[in-house]
Amino acid sequence: MADVVLKNVEKLYDKNVAAVRNVNLEIKDREFVVLVGPSGCGKSTTLRMIAGLEEVTAGEIYIDGKVVNDIPPKDRDIAMVFQNYALYPHMSVYENMAFGLKLRKYPKPEIEQRVNEAAGILGIGHLLARKPKALSGGERQRVAVGRAIVRKPKVFLFDEPLSNLDAKLRVQMRTEISKLHNRLEATMIYVTHDQVEAMTMGDRIAVMKDGEVQQVADPIHLYETPVNRFVAGFIGSPGMNFMDGRIEAKNGALVFEEGRLSLTVPETMKPALESYRGQEVVFGIRPENVAAAGTVKAWADPQEIAATVEVIEPMGSETFVYLTTGKHPFIARIDAHLSPALDSDMPLSVNMAKAHFFRKDDERAIV
Ligand code: ADP
Repeated sequence: MADVVLKNVEKLYDKNVAAVRNVNLEIKDREFVVLVGPSGCGKSTTLRMIAGLEEVTAGEIYIDGKVVNDIPPKDRDIAMVFQNYALYPHMSVYENMAFGLKLRKYPKPEIEQRVNEAAGILGIGHLLARKPKALSGGERQRVAVGRAIVRKPKVFLFDEPLSNLDAKLRVQMRTEISKLHNRLEATMIYVTHDQVEAMTMGDRIAVMKDGEVQQVADPIHLYETPVNRFVAGFIGSPGMNFMDGRIEAKNGALVFEEGRLSLTVPETMKPALESYRGQEVVFGIRPENVAAAGTVKAWADPQEIAATVEVIEPMGSETFVYLTTGKHPFIARIDAHLSPALDSDMPLSVNMAKAHFFRKDDERAIV
């Protein structure tokens, strides 16, 4: 197995447009790292440069301590699993899985042993004689993963491997790939636009936007301490509530104000926000830190705001309520047994101990 290091990696397709800019990443041996971000942010390009399928415009990529910029894909000791599976339609499952080993002139008994072992791990032993067209989407996906496993590569690369599967199968394959990672103790780099996939699978997650890595962290750290408004809004579903407003001083305290709404800044956040007095900032609060007023007893610093109910989405275990407060949309996750009426006024508690504040200009996190 191996570590993968990207140093100041850049990719220009056209002279002036950078698809990937100054990416620095260190993926440790046996780590599972997810590259996540919206479509077009440069995730696939980054992965394809690691695979050697795209040239690097600037910077270096190291696999296992060696610069691989000029090493062709087949000599990088990596295996890649694609979104469209890329199986050969005229070959059986066995032949698809054996193909890469045959090319590399492995002895037949070893090929057989490796294919059978991989098929056993993936539970596709009974499908070895079938052609890809006689397989379901999930089975094809397993074959594509099997083809990667038989190679026993140093590094596995996954490019949106679950995007073509239905929702239920996607959740199942998610856990299967996580289990596979534990079993193979392999270094894995996984690209997805789906933040839930990223959060549930990654040891660490690199959030990308516009060709740049915004933050690299483990899931909890990313969720609780996003470095900027983009990461805060991208991670979590439903997304974080944001509101533009102003920090003002009032009776020795600092308050966040917007229209008639006024929230007192917790003591612990005062030092960080002191210098923003009189300035515009962005306030952020996750929906689980907003509830029907008076229903949550354990919060450290609940503060009330007025809101009106617009849409109710019962999820079974909880209910998402879409509200407006002043002119701002707001989402609250409330107890499933509360059933507020549409268009009714609903006083909310906001857990200010969990508030986030971002700068208005560059959107970096203040606290
Ligand atoms: P993602 O995987 O995050 O959706 P990509 O890495 O595929 O994003 O693309 C990043 C950017 O590079 C996009 O703006 C995309 O249009 C551009 N791009 C990708 N491949 C090519 C290519 N072969 N030629 C020109 N531009 C490309």
